[in-house]
Amino acid sequence: MNLPSSLLRRATFRLRISRSVTSTQAATHFPTTRKYSQEHSSDGYRLQLYNNPLHDLVGEITIPNGSYTLEFARFPVFPSPKEPSTSCLLWGETKAALLAEKFQPSPPSVPSRPGMYFLGPSSVAGTGVFAQEDIECGEAIMVERPFLMAFSHTPDNFGVDPTPLIPMVPEALGLVVAERLSKSEQTDFYRLFSSDNSVWPIMSQNSIPVSEPLPGPYSGPHNVVCRDVSRINHSCTPNVELTWDPTSFTVLIHSNTRISKGEELFRPYRNILEPRSERMELLYQIYDFKCACPSCSLPDDESAKSDTFRRFLLEPRYTL
Ligand SMILES: [Zn+2]
Repeated sequence: MNLPSSLLRRATFRLRISRSVTSTQAATHFPTTRKYSQEHSSDGYRLQLYNNPLHDLVGEITIPNGSYTLEFARFPVFPSPKEPSTSCLLWGETKAALLAEKFQPSPPSVPSRPGMYFLGPSSVAGTGVFAQEDIECGEAIMVERPFLMAFSHTPDNFGVDPTPLIPMVPEALGLVVAERLSKSEQTDFYRLFSSDNSVWPIMSQNSIPVSEPLPGPYSGPHNVVCRDVSRINHSCTPNVELTWDPTSFTVLIHSNTRISKGEELFRPYRNILEPRSERMELLYQIYDFKCACPSCSLPDDESAKSDTFRRFLLEPRYTL
């Protein structure tokens, strides 16, 4: 079943609305214990979570017409020395399909030049990413393997409304963060900017959607979190572009214009061809900030022209 909007985004809405009344639900911090187990149920839906270090089953979701497993996986299964790996919360069949293919990411590529960026206080929010030196248009600036990945839809054959699960799924992600990430990865995770320093808001406000489907029956997207790339702030006039390389399991950042030394890097968090009012509304709903980028700060008459240009780019102009 292909949902009209991602489970991740819908959960963000739900948590934003209910944060003040269900703060314990949003503030998902698990004790570091090997004996964790928890169960939630709602309207015939049930989520059971487990943490048995001897196998990778972390949960089971029961719905009125069936059940699904949630599994942990780390890729590469056999990383080379010092090679970073990605901890994944996957639907069970996705993991089985990956293992059946003996999936092993190729080693990450390297940027155009080493040391092309640095982290520092952002002019927009929290920590940002800046050019260490002048960068030409089209250069690969960052190549990073995420430390966390999680599905963002229900399985294709889910067949029922996933809404009752929305408050439950963050619990599963919280378990993975608390029990399966390394201490340094947990530190990197909690350092990311969030309006609410708990697992789900951090994930929803810093993760990057990966549209390339993994093998298996689930064809929906996954979201990934990176130590450095996730710190790139948003602009509706971005100077870098983000792509996902499925063979190396890495996120790539390329410049789309010339960037001067010391300039902050900005990528678009959403489709920037939408009009300003829609962009600002969705950014506020999903990421909890009011965009003040150069485009969104234009006087109204200039913004109307900008919207017209963006709409023009959206319209199909050629028919083959
Ligand atoms: Zn903007």
